[in-house]
Amino acid sequence: MKKVVKFGGSSLASAKQFKKAGEIIRADKARRYVVPSAPGKRSKTDEKVTDMLYACYDAASTGAGYGKLLSKIKERFEQIIDGLDLNLNLDFEFKTIEENFIAKAGRDYAASRGEYLNSLIMSHYLGFEFVDAAEVIFFDENGAFLADKTNRELAQRLEHLERAVIPGFYGSKPDGSIKTFSRGGSDVTGSIVSRAIHADLYENWTDVSGFLVTDPHLVENPVPIETITYRELRELAYMGASVLHEDAIFPVRKEGIPINIRNTNKPDDPGTLIVESTCRKPKYVITGIAGKKGFCSINIEKAMMNSEIGFGRKVLDVFERYGISFEHMPSGIDTMTIFVHQSEFEEYEQSVIAGIHRAVQPDFLDLESDLALIAVVGRGMKSARGTAGRIFSALAHARINVKMIDQGSSELNIIIGVKNDDFEPAIKAIYDIFILSEI
Ligand code: ASP
Repeated sequence: MKKVVKFGGSSLASAKQFKKAGEIIRADKARRYVVPSAPGKRSKTDEKVTDMLYACYDAASTGAGYGKLLSKIKERFEQIIDGLDLNLNLDFEFKTIEENFIAKAGRDYAASRGEYLNSLIMSHYLGFEFVDAAEVIFFDENGAFLADKTNRELAQRLEHLERAVIPGFYGSKPDGSIKTFSRGGSDVTGSIVSRAIHADLYENWTDVSGFLVTDPHLVENPVPIETITYRELRELAYMGASVLHEDAIFPVRKEGIPINIRNTNKPDDPGTLIVESTCRKPKYVITGIAGKKGFCSINIEKAMMNSEIGFGRKVLDVFERYGISFEHMPSGIDTMTIFVHQSEFEEYEQSVIAGIHRAVQPDFLDLESDLALIAVVGRGMKSARGTAGRIFSALAHARINVKMIDQGSSELNIIIGVKNDDFEPAIKAIYDIFILSEI
């Protein structure tokens, strides 16, 4: 059995957190490959080391004073080393980092040092081999990730290593310079390592006990999701739910490796298991509810629209010309509505309206702004009768006016459009009917 364990920033923010991570790793012999993030926040008001590194590099490269900030960063690592009673001195590492800052090694280089140093500490603490991500994770000269080359070389390198620590978040370009993934990218590294070693499980340790059915800012103490499929997760992530970096799905999905989201502070909680497919019956009919505000709809009416071949194409062509992607497009016999992101649309609003008039000569066209979209997602919906009915009666009871309904052909989700102001009460009403009333 081989497991890859990735620890997020808050799981490694201090010596105390490091000890929890150490205990978790030692508790299971299968936890052989460790991917650390940089130290995150120790409290709500604290700073992430990655942010401190960006700020320090920006100061150094503009000739501003950076010494104090660099010492503060060094202190963060030294506190961890002291708290773990390790015999490790980072003077040489910090001298190199300072030289590279002055030589303008790049913002990515700067940011990556958080993961690099935390991994050095972790490898000393555990007695595992340290493998620098710059030697095994590759990007091309334009910064695009090279999945196959990385997979090959990483697999070769780890083949003979029983246990290893590989820093998250970064790799290197052909000229040897450092390149990072986007923020939160250590999740991606964990996934890449899991693929390369054919892991049985990718454990992603963070500070929550998995995904919650909905956003805890909207509903008090939502229940956690036990099992979710990659497809469900994608639907929810697109609608704003976040715990895992979006690109972390692809490498493990290719190999059918499940991801287990776990809580470093509550290691006994089972967390959420993300799988390709499962016959496990979901506990509730719906798996999750997520949503976003800030949409607007363009409503078009024209008599005999349905017999005018090419009508839809001509309308969508106008949006394409202005680089605006559409989210949903419900239609009636003589009507068609297009949902777009308000922020993307606003700049081109008048040009798009003129374009539609020219392209299809509608009888009537109007806009409605400040709309929100809510996705109710669940593989269990397919086999449960009356799901849509329950959603809409819950919304009606909460006196919420539904502006749009769209059930994807996959029967995996139902998308509902409401006014921005109805967003929170709508999510609460749906949560209450499917989860609270079933507990
Ligand atoms: N340390 C990086 C960040 O703050 C990457 C990560 O934590 O995954 O974004």
